[in-house]
Parts: sequence; C-alpha cells; structure tokens
Amino acid sequence: MIRERIVKGFEAGIVVPHGLLAHGRGEALDYILGEETHPPALEATRAAAALLLLSKHPVISVNGNTAALVPDEVVRLAKTLNARIEVNLFHRSPERIRRIKEFLEGRGAENVLGDSDLVEIPGLSSQRRFVSRNGIYSADTVLVPLEDGDRAEKLVALGKRIVAIDLNPLSRTSRAATISIVDNVVRAMPNLCRAVEELKGYTAKELEEIYHSFNNEENLRRMIELILRHLTRLAGLEELP
Ligand code: ATP
Ligand code: MG
Repeated sequence: MIRERIVKGFEAGIVVPHGLLAHGRGEALDYILGEETHPPALEATRAAAALLLLSKHPVISVNGNTAALVPDEVVRLAKTLNARIEVNLFHRSPERIRRIKEFLEGRGAENVLGDSDLVEIPGLSSQRRFVSRNGIYSADTVLVPLEDGDRAEKLVALGKRIVAIDLNPLSRTSRAATISIVDNVVRAMPNLCRAVEELKGYTAKELEEIYHSFNNEENLRRMIELILRHLTRLAGLEELP
C-alpha cells in the first residue's frame, strides 16, 4: 500500500524518479529495522513534539515523497501547531510546486508556501536553496521529513532547529538535525500528530524539560545498536552484551 502511494504520486507528477530511488533506500533500511517503531524513535517523537510546541514560528517543509505518503498528517499537524506548510524541492519546477500545493490544499491545507516571495539560503547549490521569506527563511524550527543532508546542515548553520524524519541513522541529515526520528515517515507522522495533541496542554516549563532531556547523538547511537542487535539475532549469532 505504501509503495502504491509513491507510484500514484509519481504518476500524478508529484514524485520524481529520484524520489522512487530514495524511497527504495528507505524500504531497505526499514526492513533492517523490522518495519516497526522502536522506543528511541518514540522518545525522539515526544521531544520533537515538545520542541515544535515551544517554537514561535514552526514550519513543515514538504517534498514530493512526503506529500504522496502522508498528506493528511501534514495538514493535521499544521492545524494543531498553527504552523505553515512550505513546499521545498530538490528537483524544483513551478509546475511540480503547483501540483503539490494543489494536492495538499485538496486535503484541507491552507496558504501553502513555496511558490512566491522566495529568498536564497547562502552557500547551498541545490534548488532547495529557494525558501519562502515568511516560511522557512523566518522559521525558528523546521520539520523536514525526508530531508537532504546539504540543506539540513545549512539550516542548522543559520541557527534553526531541525526535526528530521529519516530511516538512516547514519545520514548527514540525521547527524545534523537537532532531533532525528529514525522511523518510516508513514509511522512517524501519525505518532508526531498524536504526541503534539497530547502535549498541547503542557506548560512551557514541562515542554522544556522534555526537550532538554533529549540527546540526539545518544538516540542515534541507540538506533544503530538496535540494528546491530536485530541483525545479530537474524544471523543466529550470539546475542550482543
Ligand atoms: P544525506 O543527504 O542526509 O547525507 P542521503 O544522501 O543518503 O543522505 P537522500 O538521498 O538525500 O539520502 O535521501 C534519502 C533518505 O531518505 C534515505 O536516507 C532514506 O533512508 C530516507 N527515506 C526514504 N524513504 C523514507 C521513508 N518513507 N521514511 C523515512 N525515511 C525515508
Ligand atoms: Mg543526500
């Protein structure tokens, strides 16, 4: 079903061929993780929810794969957080931006950004450097499901806090992000929606406690260890200490 959604997105001109390749890489990593959400990913999700709720100007950055896979969750999260949605593409074309924007608006999104009033992120060569002045450019926190490493690093260098959703705990995106949720975006986004809805009534002090007790480096280390343990078991080798 997930693969079908990506293929439908490709046929509708929302997903590019490169997106299909990236998705295949994701599937392989998900397979190694047992295709389930692990405790460190849930902890990262909770910390991400706290951070997003503490932010003054959170923005959800959407690319073709994200739009094809989790459009309803993007809209739901934006509404709960009162966050802006911005289409930002590595393989950018006005036509594709328009299609993704219309697709999300058809699911209930309002004022999707990304097609006008653009500024460039300095030092970034990819098309992802074009960001909306009132969106990513002025955001304090950016949620980037399925990011590429180059831009994640640049956004962090600009002083923004980044929440990434990436099945690869070794990617530059995961390493650069403030909080990396190592899980499939189709499981992570509904979990994030639920976490935000649950934490919405918490005080700023309580949210800060949740956010500050999270350590991204340690969380990624635990995810790599989980992969090791899973493979050790599959190989019938002796359990790791
Ligand atoms: P980076 O640019 O961060 O160094 P990369 O170049 O290896 O990493 P990209 O090609 O930029 O990766 O992006 C693809 C990434 O998206 C892969 O790491 C893949 O695991 C991840 N990915 C693909 N599909 C999903 C999905 N459905 N859920 C979560 N992550 C996914
Ligand atoms: Mg990359």
